Amino acid sequence: MPETYYFNITYACNSCCIFCAANFQGGSRRLADMQPAQFRFLLHEADVRAGDQVVINGGEPTVHPDFFEFLAALRERQAYPILFTNGVRLHEQAFTAKLAQYSPMNIRVPFFSARPQLHDRLTGRADNFAKTLAGFAQIVGMRSQGVPFEIEAKLLLCKATYLENRTTAALLTERFPNLFYFSINPLLIYDKVMRNKDRLVESFSRMREATESTIDLILSRHFLVSLDLLPFCVVAERHRALLPPLRNVPHRRWYFDPRSTTADPEARMTEQFCSEHCLPCLYCHTCKGFYPEYLELFGHAEVQPIVQEHRGDQPLCCSAEPFRATVAPKTEPSGGKRRFVVTARLPG
Ligand code: SF4
Ligand code: SF4
Repeated sequence: MPETYYFNITYACNSCCIFCAANFQGGSRRLADMQPAQFRFLLHEADVRAGDQVVINGGEPTVHPDFFEFLAALRERQAYPILFTNGVRLHEQAFTAKLAQYSPMNIRVPFFSARPQLHDRLTGRADNFAKTLAGFAQIVGMRSQGVPFEIEAKLLLCKATYLENRTTAALLTERFPNLFYFSINPLLIYDKVMRNKDRLVESFSRMREATESTIDLILSRHFLVSLDLLPFCVVAERHRALLPPLRNVPHRRWYFDPRSTTADPEARMTEQFCSEHCLPCLYCHTCKGFYPEYLELFGHAEVQPIVQEHRGDQPLCCSAEPFRATVAPKTEPSGGKRRFVVTARLPG
């Protein structure tokens, strides 16, 4: 089974989102960036192999001055890149043409509203919406010409965006052919989000009706949608055919970060449970669960273990396995050779 590795290669970014989870507060560029040599070393030591999925994230990874060196390193190992980008640089033709040289790859681009002013306000930069939409058009167009880009349009579930998602999905499905899929993503509740809590944080229950309506629209237009990152018990019964297949064992993920990859020698490996309330759930090894911060705010009432397998449990969307954001970084020396283990932040 392919492994999933997650690399934060930079804390730098060309946007300033109100819900940014990259909490780096200044410091030197060297500290903010992973170096390609370090990346190659980590790929080697982690024994990344052909077919493994490697998430390249940031910050905004495309602003890293050596961005393409990271992709070159992955190509040498025939690993599959999953690029998390805000999409702004994709509107640059030369940039996207070079990106195609490193395909196949999965590219994930967020849209926070179909209203340019709101998308720009949430991302902190004028013209972000226009650039992201133009970039998206460019990669979809390249895919239609045979470039093996797998493309995901990300919709965010938060107070500022959940009522926007349906019209955003409508716009994208009207404007582009069925050559990409959608995903619906929970909000990562970190420091900056908490500072804007009243504008951003909302319960899944309150967002449920609008979310179901968004999913219905996407499916009615014959596009696929991934719900892989949502707690599965907040997904309506009628949409559970969209969930990924059951797994019997925890899926391990590795996380590497320019600031802390070689630190924290005391961290221990844990498994992927978001809550002890999940233990009876059939999906406890498949579902990413609720973020601990969410449970601190809203309690456990929405954690409803699923005890009956969905009939015909086939995923409609084969998106690559994304990283669970509550995983913290860790490297640990073992017998002279580095071994990498994952540390999940369990709820208190
Ligand atoms: S694009 Fe990503 S890294 Fe940049 S500000 Fe927005 S959330 Fe943060
Ligand atoms: S009970 Fe837990 S594991 Fe089960 S679907 Fe809900 S969040 Fe996921």
